[in-house]
Amino acid sequence: MEVPFADLTAQYNAIREEIDAAIGDVIAETAFIGGRDNRFVSEFEARFSEFVGVRHCIGCANGTDALEILLKALEIGPGHEVIVPAHSWISTAEAVSAVGARPVFVDSRPGVYTIDPAGIDQRVTPRTRAIIPVHLYGLPADMDPILEVAHRHGLLVVEDSAQAHGATYKGRRVGTMGIAAAFSFYPGKNLGAYGDAGAMLTNDASIARRARMIANHGQEKKHDHLLEGRNSRLDGLQAAVLTVKLRHLDRWTEHRRGHAARYEEALSGLRLDLPLVPAGSTHVYHLFVVATDAREELRNAMRSAGVATAIHYPRALPMLPPYLAAGCRAEDYPTATRDSRRILSLPMYPEMTNPMIDHVAAIARRLLGPNGTA
Ligand SMILES: *Cc1c(COP(=O)(O)O)cnc(C)c1O
Repeated sequence: MEVPFADLTAQYNAIREEIDAAIGDVIAETAFIGGRDNRFVSEFEARFSEFVGVRHCIGCANGTDALEILLKALEIGPGHEVIVPAHSWISTAEAVSAVGARPVFVDSRPGVYTIDPAGIDQRVTPRTRAIIPVHLYGLPADMDPILEVAHRHGLLVVEDSAQAHGATYKGRRVGTMGIAAAFSFYPGKNLGAYGDAGAMLTNDASIARRARMIANHGQEKKHDHLLEGRNSRLDGLQAAVLTVKLRHLDRWTEHRRGHAARYEEALSGLRLDLPLVPAGSTHVYHLFVVATDAREELRNAMRSAGVATAIHYPRALPMLPPYLAAGCRAEDYPTATRDSRRILSLPMYPEMTNPMIDHVAAIARRLLGPNGTA
């Protein structure tokens, strides 16, 4: 049985009529760009800010830009440091460097892959301005101790919510807990566009105004350039697709949770670490990540049986060339380094079927069960 890692075609087929109609409307109106005056963009911004529960939503070109523009809007730049997790997609650190500040890495919390709040304090210096926790794989970072450290040192918290649309922490949605939040709508994300797209969310009107200006050449009104910005707009086609898909997101998340529960039952008792969900958090399973010392054997067995897997991510950020060159050392990030050698992402997407999950689990059981060969 072939089990793809994700299947965007299956998703499109299930909502084809709605998507095609929405795309047709944008083209008929030639509403391609147009920022705030574009009804497709403004409708998506309104719907998504409602979904997250935050007053202002500003669409932009992608999630990496969302992080970078928010840091700019918060006046973080040269001479500043920003705390980021050692284990994330590179965008989290890249955005910090892109504004001229320095990313300072903190190791992961054992067992959950998100930033270890206990490691933040010792990395704070007089130059530190912000913390960017990442709600990795769909699980919220442990926000209360992060917010406590931030408060104690007067640091801003920007939530990298690119992988966790709709996840909650102690009843609060991700994206509502910091001063601002960045979301990505990269096609493979839980809410994905048909190209690149992203959004910035905040309850602060002046940050929202600055972020919107920066994303659109520093103009408040056409040709009224109050500062130098850039071109990072959410376009009409992507916004229309996202508005359609947002209507289905909660249902898709329920499917992901159902698949996760089936995986967990089928994989329990193996020599395999399953995703932990701390009390008070809800997970949206952007990825279903397991961990084992026999990662390569498991990956090969999956491949031979037609199952696609992936590694998110094979190297902790401090171990990538740009950060090694800046003096980062593996021994400072023991958990992230160990995790990067053991993790494997199993197929996870709403349209998966039970036989697919059972097939994947059976392969793992043969290898890592009581009589397993690895
Ligand atoms: C996807 C992602 C981003 C960046 O989003 P893009 O839209 O691809 O630029 C940022 N942070 C994390 C954790 C991500 O997974």
